[in-house]
Amino acid sequence: MPKKIQTVRGMTDILPRQQVFFERVFQAFRVTARAFGFEQIETPLVEEAGLFARAIGEGSDIVTKQMFAVSRLADSPRQARTKGTDDEKGELVLRPEATASVVRAYIEHGMHTWPQPVKLSYIGPMFRYERPQAGRYRQFWQAGVEIIGEGDASIDALTMLVGWQTLEKLGLGEQLVISVNSVGDKACRPRIRKQLAAHFEKHADALCEDCQERLKTNPLRILDCKQDSCRKIAESAPELIDLLCEDCRAHFRMTLEYLDELGLPYELSQRLVRGLDYYTRTVFEIGALNDEARQSSLLGGGRYDTLIEEYGGRPTPASGFAIGVERVVELIKTKKMPSVQPLTPQVFLIQLSEGARKAALRVARTLTKNDIQVSSGMTKGSLKAQLRSADRSKAPISLIIGQREAFDATAIVREMDDGSQETVAQSAILETIRKRLSQK
Ligand code: AMP
Repeated sequence: MPKKIQTVRGMTDILPRQQVFFERVFQAFRVTARAFGFEQIETPLVEEAGLFARAIGEGSDIVTKQMFAVSRLADSPRQARTKGTDDEKGELVLRPEATASVVRAYIEHGMHTWPQPVKLSYIGPMFRYERPQAGRYRQFWQAGVEIIGEGDASIDALTMLVGWQTLEKLGLGEQLVISVNSVGDKACRPRIRKQLAAHFEKHADALCEDCQERLKTNPLRILDCKQDSCRKIAESAPELIDLLCEDCRAHFRMTLEYLDELGLPYELSQRLVRGLDYYTRTVFEIGALNDEARQSSLLGGGRYDTLIEEYGGRPTPASGFAIGVERVVELIKTKKMPSVQPLTPQVFLIQLSEGARKAALRVARTLTKNDIQVSSGMTKGSLKAQLRSADRSKAPISLIIGQREAFDATAIVREMDDGSQETVAQSAILETIRKRLSQK
């Protein structure tokens, strides 16, 4: 027996019934982002590995463990890693997130010459080699925004507002809260790292294996570890807010004032640091009110004021977020919302001979060209069987073309609720259907 073909671990098919929920999230996001003046950007799924290593951090989980390498099947993985071919300068990977790509595009296309700040939004799949579990996949969708070119705290609040309003549009407002924190900037981060490292050094033996490594690469990340032993040690760590420099503290205070002004529900989350190294100052997540351990945030983001400079651009402050679409879909599925109807055609086409099938195809072309939704199985089934399919499709009208109608260039228009029928010329079908639909 041939080997069964199935989806790769951690990756899922989104079937039509699921797609409806995804579309709902995309729609809420698109409408909100557009209202705030965001323009869309699409970047490639494949980028050079170095782009993410630099942005997200050499020592971050994403870079050290979670990137999918992309190579030409003919190249051995080893060759691809060490040599690279003429057209690939370095190792290629599937993007694990989109901020780095958007920043690359900002620099590559000289967007600093556009009116600032540049406001961009995107929707697309991301790839991370994680241990698959509920709400954590190896391919997942993110919808996100980036505001590049303004450092004022009002932008931090505005970024959160766009995310909040998207989720609110989906009816989730009541059950969510924004967690917010500040991780300092270039000026105070070295001191923050040093002081936290000093605290964690004292408890190094009790830290999990990952955190022992983090102690060397980025001790801030220990604050965010979900392991019980590490959480306990993190509880007695100095509070980040006390370690911030004066400028960062003032910026954070202003951000909170704007949030108050907007009436957005937030809580200060001392241990929120996020897993990506590029953040400076504000970091935030939106998650369920009762999820104190922040196990499954719906959205994450923050400010990244040094990233553009690190990529060779001029110093440019920026801020953004990404919504985890699958997680939002899971949540809206549990809510009592108007039930999602599968697509209902407006007209069901029934044909009863080869000649009739040709006529039916022509009619389908005319109707769909005029935005009327048409369904037909084009089966060779009996009239009775096709009428049953028409009933099941819930189309209000069916069109029946038999041998005789095909010959006469006519069709029978049947109202599905009462079974009344009328024969019309095929040339008059569009007009007849339009009229009848407008009376429904
Ligand atoms: P991040 O890009 O890590 O800041 O994550 C932003 C959001 O994407 C998170 O709040 C999650 O909702 C979602 N997300 C991150 N990783 C995954 C994953 N492996 N599977 C599903 N959703 C994810």
